[in-house]
Amino acid sequence: MFMRMVSRVLTFSFNGFPAIVTDCVKILHHEDKNKKLDRTIHAEQNALLYAGRDAKDCHAYIVGKPVCNTCAIMLIQAGIRRVVAAPPLLDSDKNWDKRGRLALTMFKQAGVEFTPIDEAKHKELIEKYDLPQKKTKKQKKTALAEQETCC
Ligand SMILES: [Zn+2]
Repeated sequence: MFMRMVSRVLTFSFNGFPAIVTDCVKILHHEDKNKKLDRTIHAEQNALLYAGRDAKDCHAYIVGKPVCNTCAIMLIQAGIRRVVAAPPLLDSDKNWDKRGRLALTMFKQAGVEFTPIDEAKHKELIEKYDLPQKKTKKQKKTALAEQETCC
């Protein structure tokens, strides 16, 4: 994710564990996904922490999953003017899509402009910035087997 004020990139960020917490492969690829999620800060939150008060009136460009409701709250509170991101699926019962729809509702109420990234543009951004693609379960197990465990 990055934000732009006029034509300047203010910050670029990604999901991950806090800076001084070890990215333990065992936890990153654990079958219980909550073990990873409970330790992860979202890219939007990370970017807002780095941007501080400079985030006000910026545009947020987010690549990956739709913006969740928690990040939407923080983006609104920080004064972000426009969000460009993948839209949630409207007919899905998946938790992420439900949270994404709540985020869109809050953006509308707060007057934050939301611009959906179309699928082709989304893939273009992932390739341009060499962002990680979602790994299959087989790829995750292979990565886990190849790396040393730290815990
Ligand atoms: Zn989020």
